[in-house]
Amino acid sequence: MILPKINRLAHEEVAELTAIVAEFGCKIQPIVGAMRTIYAIVGDERHELMISRLEGLAYVDRVDTIQSPHKLMDIKSDLASHRLAIGGVTLGEELLFIAGHCTIDPAQPSLFLETALAVKAAGAQALRGGVWKPRTTPYAFQGDVRSLDILMDASRRTGLPAVAEVMDEEQLRLALDAGVQVLQIGARNALNYSLLRQIGKAIAGRPTAVLLKRGMHHGTLNEFISAAEYIVNFGNPNVILCPRGTQPGLDGYRNHPDESITPLLKERTWAPVVVDPSHSVGKAAYVPACALAAVAYGADGLCIEAHVSPSHGLGDDPKQAVTPKVLAELITRARGLHALSRTARPSPVAS
Ligand code: PEP
Ligand code: MN
Repeated sequence: MILPKINRLAHEEVAELTAIVAEFGCKIQPIVGAMRTIYAIVGDERHELMISRLEGLAYVDRVDTIQSPHKLMDIKSDLASHRLAIGGVTLGEELLFIAGHCTIDPAQPSLFLETALAVKAAGAQALRGGVWKPRTTPYAFQGDVRSLDILMDASRRTGLPAVAEVMDEEQLRLALDAGVQVLQIGARNALNYSLLRQIGKAIAGRPTAVLLKRGMHHGTLNEFISAAEYIVNFGNPNVILCPRGTQPGLDGYRNHPDESITPLLKERTWAPVVVDPSHSVGKAAYVPACALAAVAYGADGLCIEAHVSPSHGLGDDPKQAVTPKVLAELITRARGLHALSRTARPSPVAS
């Protein structure tokens, strides 16, 4: 829909609009009002170049598109019936709990195995473990490829699928060869379109899933959903959207918690939403409340940093990992809340 700056366009201006949209296979249909005329674009109005050219005209105020920019991720796309199962959990039917270390310490493999067994006993159905770490300073521990074996060994022993972040093509190849079932794209790389494309290409035709964190500085929700569109565009629709807080943080929290975007995402896209409360709030004591809020907002699961002995951990673990005991209580409460919100949900046929 083209909204002009003036009440009615001159004949030559309408001719100019018509010529531009015709190049993209569209037509112009004026909608004449008593005061103002607006101009509908009939056809596929999603061509970015067409919109830019129209918005560049001096007499055009803006172009509003009714069609979603997401051909695949849109709630109305054919992919809306796609179901993703991880660790025996079909997302959307039952809550998925992913838990484990922020960072695996390659010097203490038994500590990670201990955590893996404990998170499984607490009710988690997938095991996270940071192998390579995106760190703000180059002097901080950057992760270690040896941790990949530790992650996969714990995954095999517990039967929990492994979740790990990859930041480049080499890590992607190593993780896939090792059998990582869920690749995480972190908040710092969620706008790295080359990496999104590489991952989309690499997982096409495989059962692998992607946990796509919301970019730390992602602007609109459409920007977040578009990042997922990059991956799905190569043919594998196993993508999970993961709000994890944005910058600038809320005074006192590490980031600005954003679990409240869950229902907004669910209105626009079919993709499951798994919230990460750990990076949102950045402190173990606040994690349970944020996690429960996410479930109340309709999240399909949670990704939580947990450690048997947080003070002996690396990376974020000393400050934001919860213990298996807290995790177990949280999972029980989250399941109760999930069951309650399902029964409380109004029936679609109720008036
Ligand atoms: C992490 O999961 O440990 C991590 C670094 O996440 P994020 O990209 O959300 O900061
Ligand atoms: Mn972390």
